[in-house]
Amino acid sequence: MTEQTIFTLLLVIITFDFFLERILSYLNRKSAKKPIPKELEGIYDNEKYTKSQTYQAEVSKFGMFTATFSFFFLFLAIYNGWFGLLDQWIRTFSPLSLVSPLIFFGILFIVSDVINIPFSIYQNFIIEAKYGFNKMTVKTFILDKIKGYILTIIIGGFLLGVLIYLVNTIGSDFWYYFWVVMTAFTLFANLFYTSLILPLFNKLTPIEDGELKSSIQSYCKKVSFPLKNIFIIDGSKRSSKGNAFFSGLGRKKKVVLFDTLVEKHTVEELTAIFAHEVGHYKKKHIVFSTLFSIGLMGFMLFLFSRMAYNAEVSWAMGGQISELHLNLLAFGILYSPISTILGIIGNIISRKNEYEADAYAQETFDSAPLVEGLKKMSADHLSNLTPHPVYVFFYYSHPPLRKRIKAMEN
Ligand SMILES: [Zn+2]
Repeated sequence: MTEQTIFTLLLVIITFDFFLERILSYLNRKSAKKPIPKELEGIYDNEKYTKSQTYQAEVSKFGMFTATFSFFFLFLAIYNGWFGLLDQWIRTFSPLSLVSPLIFFGILFIVSDVINIPFSIYQNFIIEAKYGFNKMTVKTFILDKIKGYILTIIIGGFLLGVLIYLVNTIGSDFWYYFWVVMTAFTLFANLFYTSLILPLFNKLTPIEDGELKSSIQSYCKKVSFPLKNIFIIDGSKRSSKGNAFFSGLGRKKKVVLFDTLVEKHTVEELTAIFAHEVGHYKKKHIVFSTLFSIGLMGFMLFLFSRMAYNAEVSWAMGGQISELHLNLLAFGILYSPISTILGIIGNIISRKNEYEADAYAQETFDSAPLVEGLKKMSADHLSNLTPHPVYVFFYYSHPPLRKRIKAMEN
């Protein structure tokens, strides 16, 4: 492909992406105005339902504002060759091909994060606070930022450094070696996420003695799941929204319940939600999704290896010579139509897994408390009860509440 074709393609892709997202959000906003579906009557009273609709509309409109802002920024940057200019400026003081990409991405990371801060503040301290969701103090917000920076520098810097080294020393076969590195990293992150990363941001405590523990204990015995792997996390530090998740592989597996979830639900409901999470483990969803993402990583790296050394790509980004970082950034954009399709496939699989985990909870425990628990959670989060089917198809990793309930009833 020539420089001009690549340049046009970059602009067409980001424009297409932007409009696709806008159209889907618009459809979803309109769909959220529908009355409560029959199956879900009683979840909200009229006043609270209106409140949930205003909340959804507000979040969606704010999303439109931030997306429009980023779109114009990125469009102008590519159109005017700002990334190339940044590269030229870096080369005036850093002639080393090993260090320049690190400086380049470091600067982009800082600039985009600084631009993002006001949006993030507005989102948390204005919108979420208005609806009573935000529990984060300014101190937590700042500490989160600092910890996030340190983690990005250590992990992102290390991985990028390895990639640069391999690209420079091995040639176009680098993708294979880097894939091995990324696979090792993914497995490591999966195994140690709850013991190394999460504790930096939250406190995890083993579940305390009491009614909940004994209920979960007897369920664990029935399905032979080790009780020592159940933790309560202080999600209330940031948001009043409750949640639960499964993490890890093999002996490192853990079920984590948010304190905000425990607070608002009955023991029966919590045990049912717990059973759902155990279902993800028993049905091997975590293993498959990890393998799936490792496979995709290899595919992506292989594609990138085909254009990592291409000077035309760097020129299209406004560069003067072939630079790995310009090509990597361009690749991120050129790859996005593929990643959109893969995202849809991933969501289809994830929604199927949710039905399976629900069915598992139904078989091994009971569906009535799970349905109650899910309803309560939806109402607590002011969730959209009538999302647009096309929006769901593209973006939802969980089936809409109504469909989950229907599946359990059948
Ligand atoms: Zn689930």
